[in-house]
Amino acid sequence: MPRPILATVHPEALEHNLNQARVRAPDARVWAVVKANAYGHGIERVFPALRSADGFAMIDLAEAERLRALDWRGPLLLLEGVFEPRDLELCSRLNIWHAVHCTEQIDWLAAHKTHAPHRVFLKLNSGMNRLGFRPEAFRAAWARLNALPQVEEISLMTHFSDADGPRGIAHQVAAFEAATADLPGERSLCNSAAILRHAQSPLRGVGVSTLAADWVREGIALYGGAPDHPEHTAAGWGLKPTMSLTTKVIGVQSLQPGDTVGYGSAFTADVPMRVGVIACGYADGYPRHAPTGTPVLVSGVRTRTVGRVSMDMIAVDLAPLDAAGVPAGIGSEVVLWGVSPSTGAELPVDEVARSAGTISYELLCAVAPRVPFADP
Ligand code: PLP
Repeated sequence: MPRPILATVHPEALEHNLNQARVRAPDARVWAVVKANAYGHGIERVFPALRSADGFAMIDLAEAERLRALDWRGPLLLLEGVFEPRDLELCSRLNIWHAVHCTEQIDWLAAHKTHAPHRVFLKLNSGMNRLGFRPEAFRAAWARLNALPQVEEISLMTHFSDADGPRGIAHQVAAFEAATADLPGERSLCNSAAILRHAQSPLRGVGVSTLAADWVREGIALYGGAPDHPEHTAAGWGLKPTMSLTTKVIGVQSLQPGDTVGYGSAFTADVPMRVGVIACGYADGYPRHAPTGTPVLVSGVRTRTVGRVSMDMIAVDLAPLDAAGVPAGIGSEVVLWGVSPSTGAELPVDEVARSAGTISYELLCAVAPRVPFADP
């Protein structure tokens, strides 16, 4: 028998979450963001459930090729554009739209003997200061692109740094509006947090008609994560978990007061208690820094990890199950995050991430190659 760890993707939840984006941004087309192998879910696994998206956005050209291999004929967008001039060849051959965020990418286009005209998303740095032309350089970049015979269509995009937090997006929206006023082309601004928190906010309609118009780019909310956890929960946003990571209890220890658990003896029992040892560790992508107390479900009952996460194992507290009279032993079902197959109980990935001092994005993307996925 293989080691009992298993990741399961829930297609109906992906479909549901995509529909939520349609409700929140009804005027927009949705780029389903499938970078990082669909946030760890697997592009091929999510594609059937997301095929009603208007387009797919990613970072890697190889991921765009995988969508074309699935016979996706609709829009594809490289969010960071091409990394080398030779990538332009594939973009034109496979009709892949690409962001343009720096002068060098325009130079490469100008020198490119293209098969077919390119569609580009010119990226404004409206305050994130990661990629994009600063506002004062934006129009010149647009004019240069507009003069190139290689470029058929120029759309306009920016990315928010604080859509999930108190600083918000108004300053970046204002910068975008100022830099793009009277330029033609479709617009794309919103990520998940902006779709959830701002797409229906009073910002819309008061000079910010572009906010959720044309295209939104949704990543984490598709995958059932709340970008602004713990202020909001995924369930509170109407989102469903799209991935469950499950395993089983493979060992049980009965501890006496003073007994310690695992490397570094990081947990000491103060009362007699049973711990289960489960087949999941940091080599499976579970965060090593998850401290004692990180939530976990055993047989659908919420309990906690105890001691350090090791490479292949974690210890979990069985006391809540013993107190409730729920049988627990070798073979008991364990949910690291997601949905309990036996009881339907849910453990949001956001809660596990928060306990480990990270975000759901990282946990989903980090599921290790050695973890098998359930057949669809
Ligand atoms: N747009 C761009 C340019 C991104 O880099 C990302 C992800 O970081 C997204 C959209 C999707 O973000 P989120 O997963 O927060 O929706």
